[in-house]
Amino acid sequence: MEIIRTIAEMKSRSAAARADGKTIGFVPTMGYLHEGHLSLARRSLACCDFTAVSIFVNPAQFGENEDLGSYPTDIESDRRKLEALGVQAVFLPDRAQMYPAGYKTYVNVEEITGKLCGKSRPAFFRGVTTVVLKLLNIVRPHLAFFGEKDRQQLAVVRKMVDDLNLDVTVVGMPIVREADGLAMSSRNVYLSAEERVSARCLGRALETARSLVQKGETSAEKILREMRAIVSGEPRTHIDYISVCDAETFVDLDEIADKALIALAVQVGKARLIDNCIVEKS
Ligand code: AMP
Repeated sequence: MEIIRTIAEMKSRSAAARADGKTIGFVPTMGYLHEGHLSLARRSLACCDFTAVSIFVNPAQFGENEDLGSYPTDIESDRRKLEALGVQAVFLPDRAQMYPAGYKTYVNVEEITGKLCGKSRPAFFRGVTTVVLKLLNIVRPHLAFFGEKDRQQLAVVRKMVDDLNLDVTVVGMPIVREADGLAMSSRNVYLSAEERVSARCLGRALETARSLVQKGETSAEKILREMRAIVSGEPRTHIDYISVCDAETFVDLDEIADKALIALAVQVGKARLIDNCIVEKS
């Protein structure tokens, strides 16, 4: 497995793979890899000839009081995990290369970035689209893989790729969970033992919502009331948002007509956790 540290080297490695007629798959990450990340890399390996995984903790997507300074990293362990999968290249750019002094260009997708996570993290999506566009320009993949755990991020990236006519296919991958239903996240490491138990409430709230819809409930207010009660019943939790909304526009719904996205963000101790599911009326 090649470890690539410079933008120039990554560009020429990708250009060589393209010149050899290889399909390039790309998995952008912030590292501290878990099975969620690895599921993306496995899919890329299954359908592409050359898979590159980037590890870059992107400062542009963190707000001032967020966890940029404490975001977990373990490059050596990440490297071992990716090598064991058979990934061809790991791209590890540093901040000075990605955002050199005088850097001034940012990409912004409008409207959908103002909903859900965009409300409480106003700089977040602008940072994500900027770094993803830069990485896509550097790696020039045929396919890029993103997780549905960050469903709004996936939608924002798809919109950017479509609006800017980028030559890449975005592939969304299902959420990978721990045995007790907690969505895997690098930030789960922030949880104390007690908070880890509380954190199960996100998955439980979504399961409850799903079963209410299966039983014929269509009122968003009733679903939200049940979900809020489950989350608020756990110690050390603070609800950022819980939403029953349109899966494409993220606009809140009063009633579920056929299909809806149910999404939530909950602060549990120091960790801000997100999760979601799509529900469909039976
Ligand atoms: P991150 O390192 O948190 O920026 O995530 C990198 C990629 O992995 C993003 O596309 C995430 O949506 C995806 N990802 C993170 N956690 C999971 C998970 N539990 N299941 C599936 N994909 C995930």
